[in-house]
Formats: sequence, C-alpha cells, structure tokens
Amino acid sequence: MIDLRSDTVTKPSAAMRQAMAGAEVGDDVWGDDPTVARLEALTAELVGKEAGLFVPSGTQSNLVALLTHCQRGDEYLVGQDAHIYRYEGGGGAVFGGIQPQPLPVQADGGLALEHLRAAIKPDDVHFARTRLLCLENTIHGRVLPQAYVVEACALADAHGLVKHLDGARLFNAAIKSGSAAQDLTRPFDSVSVCLSKGLGAPVGSVLCAGGDFIKHARRWRKMLGGGMRQSGILAAAGIYALQHNIERLAEDHANAALLAAELSEVTELHIDPTLVQTNMLFVRPKQGSAQELTTYLQEQGILVDPGATLRLVTHLDVSRSGILTAARVIKSFYAHN
Ligand SMILES: *Cc1c(COP(=O)(O)O)cnc(C)c1O
Repeated sequence: MIDLRSDTVTKPSAAMRQAMAGAEVGDDVWGDDPTVARLEALTAELVGKEAGLFVPSGTQSNLVALLTHCQRGDEYLVGQDAHIYRYEGGGGAVFGGIQPQPLPVQADGGLALEHLRAAIKPDDVHFARTRLLCLENTIHGRVLPQAYVVEACALADAHGLVKHLDGARLFNAAIKSGSAAQDLTRPFDSVSVCLSKGLGAPVGSVLCAGGDFIKHARRWRKMLGGGMRQSGILAAAGIYALQHNIERLAEDHANAALLAAELSEVTELHIDPTLVQTNMLFVRPKQGSAQELTTYLQEQGILVDPGATLRLVTHLDVSRSGILTAARVIKSFYAHN
C-alpha cells in the first residue's frame, strides 16, 4: 500500500519504538515524568516559548488554547476552513461558550486585514468580546507569508487581542521557508504543534506559551481528561521525532513537488504545481468523477483522501520510488480511459 491519505498514517519506526521502550517514566499528573518534562522543554525551546504542555491530540491542544485565552462570551477570529474552527467539533463553543467569527481564507492562506478590522467588535453590550486571533501554518500545505503574519499580529495587538497559532505542521513551514520555527512563532502568544503528523510520532501535540498561561492550560487539560500518567512512553516518541524527523521533512516536500511535476503532464487533471509548497497537493479531474479515479487507485494499492478534489500527502512512510509508482498508476488510469 502507498498511503497518501494523510501524514497522520505514519507508523513509529523501529528506532522510535526502541526510544519508547527505554523511556524513563513517572506519574505525569503528579509531575513525576521526566521524559514528558523533557519533551515539553524541548518543544518550547524549539518554538521560542517559555513552557510547553504535552496533550494527546492537536484538537485538545487547540481547545485548551481557546479555553485558556477566552472567557465565556468571548469570540475568536478564525479562517472559514481553519482546522480549529471547521474540523474540531465546535469544541470552543461546546466547552467554553466561546463564539467563532469565521472569515474567508485568502489565496495566500491568511485572513485579509480589512476583514479582520471589520470583524473586531467595539466594546458594546450587543457584541461578543473579540478576544483572540487564530492563524494556521502551514494551511492546506502552504506556508503563510511571514510578513503577513507580522502585520496581522500587529493589527491584533493594536486592538488588544491575543494570538494563537495552530502550527500542526509548523516544522514543514520552517523547513520550507528556511526559517527557525521560533522566528515563525515569535508574534504569537501561544502555538500548538503536532508530533503525530509528518514527524512520525504515534500520538501527541505540544501547546507552548508563557509559563503562567501553561499553568492555567494544565488545569484545562486535566478537566478535559488529558492528564496522562506514565506518558513518558509517548513523550519519548515525540522527543525522537523532534530530534530525527524535522530536517527530513525536506524529502517529503521534494516528493510532493516530484509528484506534482509528474501529474502536471496528465492533461485530464487540474493541478497547480506552484501551489505545492510542502507535503500536500490537490488534484482535480477536469472531467469525470474523482471517485472513479480514487477507486482505481485503491485497487492498485494507492490510497488518497477522496472528494471532488483529491488530496495527496507525502510523508516518511512513502519513498521516492513509491511516489513514482503512484504517478505511473495515475497516468495509467488515463491511458486506459
Ligand atoms: C491534524 C490537525 C489538527 C488536529 O490534530 P489531531 O491530533 O488530529 O487532533 C489541528 N490543526 C491542524 C491544522 C491539523 O492539520
């Protein structure tokens, strides 16, 4: 199987499993797990924040961030297709009474400054209190222009808003842009990173921010059921991922670019190779159903994220030769049809 559905399908390598098996552990709810503490400190350092909090998932990390930043009746400005708004079950509204104010995501992945300005509510009893700006990097595989990030966060500052970055794939953005992760996160008060995507760990995210914020966040994590016991077993996989699997994300980006270049030769497919920046590409048949292609690929042992537009994601469990095989199979579908 060549599994291009997502970078979440990666499985821990033998070396990562060995690091997990040998991890020194303790009860982390009691603050006794040295490996969790090490992961939290290491991640915080990489993203340039004071402290970190190890959580089971990116969804919980973003939810804890919302609950820590916002009170009941506050709102956050967020992209219409941002993960934290669209794909997390409305958790902020359910658990925190926090209202999203979704805004259209622009072609570069950002929220237009004029939309942000217009959406920030005045202090008036009619309105929710606009409290927080949420951005996502990478978003749909694209790196947010850092000049935009700086401007948007300055606008938020000018209106007294706090800023959270959903950096599920922050390290993809860092590798692609040649920037240090901490430079990309500097304008934000908090940042969430996923260990379980392209970095190859089986489980986990880390929420990073100032020390006081993380102290409050730890209370929310406990209430949400995210206080884990001998979680150093999992944290060891995260440490291994941060130490071994960041630089190699460049290979995933090269593989996505290679696949895009191969598929741009297929006249029946719509694909814009200039949009392929990191480890994702989106491909749409110009005619006919995407479903037929998806089914054919599955029969040939190639899995893709289905839909009218197919999403193909490269990661550490797909090699360059796997990519060339996938390209050949997709071309063969159109040669036969
Ligand atoms: C995957 C993802 C999350 C959530 O992570 P889970 O561990 O799947 O809950 C959040 N934001 C973005 C942008 C993601 O891609």
